[in-house]
Amino acid sequence: MQKNTENSREQKLPCGRLVTVPLDKQKQDNAKKFEIWKEQLKNYLEQNRLKYSEQRWKIAKLILGTKGHFNAQEIVQEVMKTHPGIGPATVYRNLKLLCDARILKETLVDAHGVAIYEAYDELHHDHIVCLDCNEIFEFHNSKIETLQAGVANEMMFTEVRHKHVIYAKCRYKKKKV
Ligand SMILES: [Zn+2]
Ligand SMILES: [Zn+2]
Repeated sequence: MQKNTENSREQKLPCGRLVTVPLDKQKQDNAKKFEIWKEQLKNYLEQNRLKYSEQRWKIAKLILGTKGHFNAQEIVQEVMKTHPGIGPATVYRNLKLLCDARILKETLVDAHGVAIYEAYDELHHDHIVCLDCNEIFEFHNSKIETLQAGVANEMMFTEVRHKHVIYAKCRYKKKKV
């Protein structure tokens, strides 16, 4: 049985399934990540003749501080909790900016059709979306990866990227009973 560790904790889903939620990794790692993101944002703004400001970075940092998979609404609520002066429109605008700068990406739409974001630099993985509790699970299967690249290859394409999302009904409860 898995227990809570320094870097993760367990969370019980409505179906009873236990998932491991990563907590803030070592502070050092995060600090380094934020430095890279800041540079990336500055470069993007410069290339597009947009102005960098500390206020812009402050909002970006609030958005990037959110771990894992999240939707825009969650970010708006999170930001407004600590910074009531920052309105939803500003958050949405900066969310789009971070996607354009390839710091974040729109990774899938959830069980309700809502766009879900995550960091652009995460190692490649695919997703299963639970249609019962809307939880998002990550997986990586090298056979699927190879097959997908093979299909593209047979059709005279070179695969650049893909999104593979499985929407599924949860069988966890039935299994347990
Ligand atoms: Zn994949
Ligand atoms: Zn993911």
